[in-house]
Amino acid sequence: MLKQLREVPRIRGNLIVISGPSGSGKDSVLAVVRGEVPDLEYSVSATTRPPREGEVDGVHYFFLTREEFLARKEAGEFLETAEFCGNIYGTPRSFVEGKLDLGEDVIMDIEIRGADQVRSVMPDAVAIFLMPPSLAELEARLGKRGADSPEATRGRLRKAVEEIPAVLRYDYVVLNYDLEQAAEEIRSIIVAERARVGKCDCDRLVRGFQMESRNL
Ligand code: 5GP
Repeated sequence: MLKQLREVPRIRGNLIVISGPSGSGKDSVLAVVRGEVPDLEYSVSATTRPPREGEVDGVHYFFLTREEFLARKEAGEFLETAEFCGNIYGTPRSFVEGKLDLGEDVIMDIEIRGADQVRSVMPDAVAIFLMPPSLAELEARLGKRGADSPEATRGRLRKAVEEIPAVLRYDYVVLNYDLEQAAEEIRSIIVAERARVGKCDCDRLVRGFQMESRNL
């Protein structure tokens, strides 16, 4: 007798891309989602931005000098890169590809131009846009965070307004009015995407049942 399956075997993991304007609450929502969804790997980005208070190298970002970043880019180490508010950000390629090959899901928090690049090389990536409830709320959140100068905050707000129409290129939109609800919606999307027939090893399931039924 074949052993009982506890979950459907996967052919390949899903790449979950989350974007949303600065201050839309991606970090907080992602922290809840990562705590609740098992077997979800987080892709740590590289950046030339200096660390904010409390940020740890290798946990929140890999903090690189511009020279280091450009050398790694030149060596093809990034899946995508984008300049954002004067700093460069990029997704290390080998981590993501390795996990997906093992059938594990990877989640990443990247801005819209990076997401476009990811989708062009991995068209089956699942792209989720986290939408702030209003510009006023975004301004309040950025102000509360106090991480940037007033000038930098205004720059991030202008950038946010520019970024909103990109939602039309995403697969899902989640409104972050309430943190727990937004996290629950993203969790549901990830769980549903895991059950897509095209991404599961259904041939193996079918063969298993056929073998087991030979003596019926
Ligand atoms: P922050 O400086 O506030 O941490 O991030 C600024 C923006 O950069 C956010 O919109 C965030 O999603 C984006 N970002 C973070 N990592 C990456 C990355 O690896 N690639 C791209 N394209 N954007 C990133």
